[in-house]
Amino acid sequence: MEIPTPSTIGLPIGLLAELTHRCPLACPYCSNPVALEGRNTELSTEGWKRVFSEAAKLGILQVHLSGGEPAARRDIVELVQHCASVGLYTNLITSGIGVTEKLISELAEAGLDHIQLSIQDSDAESADKIAGYKGAFAKKKIVAGWIKAAEFPLTVNAVMHRANIARSAAMVELAIELGASRVEIAHTQYYGWALPNRAALMPSRTETETAVAEIDALRKRHHGEIVIDLVIPDYHATYPKACMGGWAKQFINVTPSGKVIPCHASETIPGLEFWNVTEHTLSDIWYSSPAFNAYRGIAWMPEPCRSCDRREIDFGGCRCQAFAILGDANATDPACHRSPHHALMTDIAEVDSNGAIGDYLYRKFPANVA
Ligand code: SF4
Ligand code: SF4
Repeated sequence: MEIPTPSTIGLPIGLLAELTHRCPLACPYCSNPVALEGRNTELSTEGWKRVFSEAAKLGILQVHLSGGEPAARRDIVELVQHCASVGLYTNLITSGIGVTEKLISELAEAGLDHIQLSIQDSDAESADKIAGYKGAFAKKKIVAGWIKAAEFPLTVNAVMHRANIARSAAMVELAIELGASRVEIAHTQYYGWALPNRAALMPSRTETETAVAEIDALRKRHHGEIVIDLVIPDYHATYPKACMGGWAKQFINVTPSGKVIPCHASETIPGLEFWNVTEHTLSDIWYSSPAFNAYRGIAWMPEPCRSCDRREIDFGGCRCQAFAILGDANATDPACHRSPHHALMTDIAEVDSNGAIGDYLYRKFPANVA
């Protein structure tokens, strides 16, 4: 068997460090797994430092410090300091809740490079309802002011769905008002907590098309002022997204307990064997972990992907979505109009977006785990 090497596999460029699943908010679209990992399972400060040192050695350039809420880790400044010392570019992905002005200035001193702040809606009441946290919107605006005062480049992350899609343009305007240099308007991806909330979150095709047209117009109007990234919902797409830039091709995701997974939703696929940083080096995991090698490249592909001219553009779409919709992670992503099961996906979108918006299943720890 050929031994995988950097020339046959390539090097990862980014590492998403889910430092903790703890979070004061309860977003119903949260990408964390429904079975959250509790505080007592989290890697120690030294454990995370070792991961970051190994990441730098492996050739990784960027570390995204995420969660949950990464500021819930008391050692966040020390971890940023360590990343900077080994030459990693650091991006903090935060809800802003629990973040203080003092922490922002300590992070600046520690060498943090960039901050992404999530905002649930441009309307305060709706934003607080989506986050499941009263006062969240007002606090986030204050935190954005501290971030800009500390001269961090700021990206605003906005996850869009039925409750806020009509305000997609207003979200961009809010990001500009807050001094962001980039805004990510990302439609909900139906994994993690979003899957059981799908009927409450799914926008209609018309709402989606209107939002996409508005964002296109804003891109032209604000060209040179703010970068506007748009992720459209798979359920209304013609082609699937190249999930994570291809399975195990560019990114590594480490869960709070040190499990190393190719993408945040990959644990939903049964039968995959994930390795842990407490038992293997990051390099061993990248080259040899069974989960990373399961869908690498194009050899695993069925038809119609195998002979498709886009097979090295979108890599057959998302394995987790194929499993979630079809119960078969080896199938062509049904988001693709060339999939024999595409109609199933469009039918789900039609039914979900036309039903009543029910109550959210908020993302919360079971009382015995937090
Ligand atoms: S999506 Fe919401 S609940 Fe999930 S980690 Fe982010 S802020 Fe917390
Ligand atoms: S058939 Fe497969 S490779 Fe071709 S566009 Fe669809 S998902 Fe992508």
